Amino acid sequence: NIDWSTEATAARRDTYYAASQQKFVPFKDPIVFKKGSMQYLWDAEGNKYTDLLGMNVCISVGHSHPRVVSAAMEQAQELTHCTTMFHHPVPAHFAEEFAATMPKGKDDNIEWVVHFTNSGSEAVDLAMAVARTFTGNLDLLALRSGYHGPTSGAQSITGIANFRHPGMSGNVAFVPEPNQYRGIFGKGADPYLDEIDQTIRAATTGRVAGIFVESVQGYGGIIEMPKGYMSGAAERVRAAGGLYIADEVQSGFGRTGDNMWGFEADGVIPDIVVMAKGIGNGFPLGAVVTQKHIAAPMAEKFMFHTYGANPTCCAAGRAVLAVIRDEKLQPNAKNVGNALLARLKDLQDKHKAIGDVRGRGLMLAIEMVKDRKTKEPDPETTAAVFENCRESGLILSKSGQYQSVLRMVPPLCLSMDDVDTVANGLDRAFSALR
Ligand code: PMP
Repeated sequence: NIDWSTEATAARRDTYYAASQQKFVPFKDPIVFKKGSMQYLWDAEGNKYTDLLGMNVCISVGHSHPRVVSAAMEQAQELTHCTTMFHHPVPAHFAEEFAATMPKGKDDNIEWVVHFTNSGSEAVDLAMAVARTFTGNLDLLALRSGYHGPTSGAQSITGIANFRHPGMSGNVAFVPEPNQYRGIFGKGADPYLDEIDQTIRAATTGRVAGIFVESVQGYGGIIEMPKGYMSGAAERVRAAGGLYIADEVQSGFGRTGDNMWGFEADGVIPDIVVMAKGIGNGFPLGAVVTQKHIAAPMAEKFMFHTYGANPTCCAAGRAVLAVIRDEKLQPNAKNVGNALLARLKDLQDKHKAIGDVRGRGLMLAIEMVKDRKTKEPDPETTAAVFENCRESGLILSKSGQYQSVLRMVPPLCLSMDDVDTVANGLDRAFSALR
């Protein structure tokens, strides 16, 4: 028996969830979701919402997408779990299909291999181990407003202070993010790239294992990497013996519209790619995709994730890839994203609280400032608009180092009709501020 009332659910959470899990509640008043279908959600009282958050970027192809649900159910009925000790064709097929989404390189000879994990942070920890094992170097670089997950390894390369806790592993140096709106060196990639060289010289042994870069930063507040940054960072880090590691947990799976993977926007070919969330459309699944020779030394120190490569989640993942292709979700992300971005720019003309509007495809953001000249972040207005959005039936997220950014990462099936709903809802949320 489930008691669906919001009050009872909140009371049970307050009593039985540990403090570490209890407080991560975005709205002032709690919300209980009962049903999801494609880009829409319904709460326990039956109110409908447009989901611009995709349950935190996990829902890539739509809530409870029938093809994904039946693929997982059919597999679960046959055999729910199979440890990687034994062979199973579903994850093996998935690895092949997954590897095929990666760039082949100009000589068409890159061989990609996949290690499935249960989550993004496990994939990040594994990627850290792969980079350190392959290069023989310990020091890693990461970006100051980056987020890579909650495990101690992933936390240690996470720059956003709120997510850092005692017990992180060391040997990490941070470089400033090339934020084109409020970055410390202003616009462009070059000064930020020079800072990578400086940091390698000043804060490491001079030889590094690699750099982790989210191709578009998510929790940092939808920070796009400027032209030349990803490829330039790869060049500089490789010159110091390290690898370029792309974190595609939020920016992957066609979300940016132009490409399947965010790093493709800069023509860089990473040595390692980590991914999660959208790969399983809600089923727990992550992956490290590496060039074969880079993964090879791990044969001596293999890592074993109990549920990694389990056939149920991999069946869901195969369906996700098929749906992205068959329902043309990448071009949809581009077209709908462009239309929504244009409407967000109109809102910026109308509402002076909006300092910046940015993003690509269906990875968009509005940044709130107290003053457009000083760009002082405005977390209070952001929180107020966020609450008003709920009234307008929109679910999105507060992000950024200052919690002054509204982040939009909806399921990739968001439609042109939804663009109207979203733009009008946001307009009402801003207008209600006065
Ligand atoms: N990298 C990025 C960019 C993420 O956004 C996240 C999760 N928010 C992670 C890694 C960690 O993934 P998980 O929560 O599945 O461990």
